[in-house]
Amino acid sequence: MLKLKNTLTRRVEEFKPLEDKTVRMYACGPTVYGNIHIGNFRTFVAVDVLRRYLRYLGYDVRYVMNITDVDDKIIRGLKQSGKSLDEYTGLYAEQFLEDLKRLNIEMPDVLPRATAHIPEMAELMKRLDEHGHTYKSDGSLYYRIETFPEYGKLSGSKLDGNQAGARVDVDEYDKADARDFVLWKATKDEGEPSWPSPYGPGRPGWHLECSAMSMKYLGESFDIHCGGVDLIFPHHENEIAQSEGATGKPFVKTWFHVEFLQVEGEKMSRSKGNFYTLRDLVEKGYSPQALRFSLLSVPYGTQLNLTFDELHARQSSLERLLNFKARVLEFRAGAGSHSRAQDAITSARVAFEYGMNSDLNTSAALAAVFDLVRDLNIAMDGGEFAEGDKHATVSFLESVDSVFGVLGEATGKDIPPDLEARVEELIKERHAARRDRDFKRADQIRDELAGLGVVLEDTPQGTRWKLKQ
Ligand SMILES: [Zn+2]
Repeated sequence: MLKLKNTLTRRVEEFKPLEDKTVRMYACGPTVYGNIHIGNFRTFVAVDVLRRYLRYLGYDVRYVMNITDVDDKIIRGLKQSGKSLDEYTGLYAEQFLEDLKRLNIEMPDVLPRATAHIPEMAELMKRLDEHGHTYKSDGSLYYRIETFPEYGKLSGSKLDGNQAGARVDVDEYDKADARDFVLWKATKDEGEPSWPSPYGPGRPGWHLECSAMSMKYLGESFDIHCGGVDLIFPHHENEIAQSEGATGKPFVKTWFHVEFLQVEGEKMSRSKGNFYTLRDLVEKGYSPQALRFSLLSVPYGTQLNLTFDELHARQSSLERLLNFKARVLEFRAGAGSHSRAQDAITSARVAFEYGMNSDLNTSAALAAVFDLVRDLNIAMDGGEFAEGDKHATVSFLESVDSVFGVLGEATGKDIPPDLEARVEELIKERHAARRDRDFKRADQIRDELAGLGVVLEDTPQGTRWKLKQ
């Protein structure tokens, strides 16, 4: 039974979908005003692992992630860019989707953009209006938080009597400053993006879009809402106030929040020079696969301090795993099976699931996999590994990888066909040189291959090669 920590109840709870075998889940997606940093990708990788593990358990998953394509930050960037809103946000949205692919994060079932859902937002404002949750001031529409007595239940922020009626117009603010928040911002500046609405021309506040779009695609009550811990207040608190204020029903059953990522022991920031995007890390020679592996190696509920030493070490452990998979696939096993190997695989599966069921403890689940790698390498060395064991191992690795998504072919570089032919030829030549005990020539060839970016590995089954990541 899967157990997940629920921010709303502050407990680790047994997970059960609201309806049958379908899990409906939503994640707050990126605000597209620049390249997304790796801290955000920690959240998206963790949510991807959650989604894949739910499927591993046999659930159908319907997953929606929004793209915020209008907000304070975008408007600031837009003014400097001189581009149209669509051009400006379209570019970053496209880069974000490319990064998702490179990190092997599966595409959401629906990827709605805020600006394409203004009518749904207007409808939600109307419902809030009818229930007496709103008021107008300076042409903008605000949510009066004292009309929703449960305000603060997610974040634990206290409603202070003397703050009643105080308002904020910005999209982000502190927990200590719980105030009436803006639903619809009246257009003040001529050049600003603006849409017509029953409340006059303007644009939506950031919080409104997620309530409107999640309920449109998942229903008024759904199973899991995901995001980084920085979104708990005010964003998710405000989403609850909007959705439950309009429907009178519980909005979300489980709130799933992913902890911060630090880089070299510090919060990422442009001014400290430790702000990284996926592109930056690829330029430094790390593969997207290794980054994905590093991000998911630490359980989502703990802070992750990513250092370059760590990233390097993770890249090596991933290689160990990939080499193991390749060795198993190439192993020429005899018929039958060995009970030692079979028992090791069964225990590994039990330990993997136990780890994942314990609030997605990915580090425990991975430890189970690495224990198996050690045991089966010994079994293969000792010739105690047969065809039946090979099948069971491959099937275990496939099911683990349906969750972790790191064992596919290296995605970093495509190998040009002429290079492939040249490499194969050099490897044959090197074999011949070694057979003739011409080790000097064999080493020369190895150096030549290294110059082409090729890494060789000699195994009992022959020589394997790959391009250096
Ligand atoms: Zn959101």
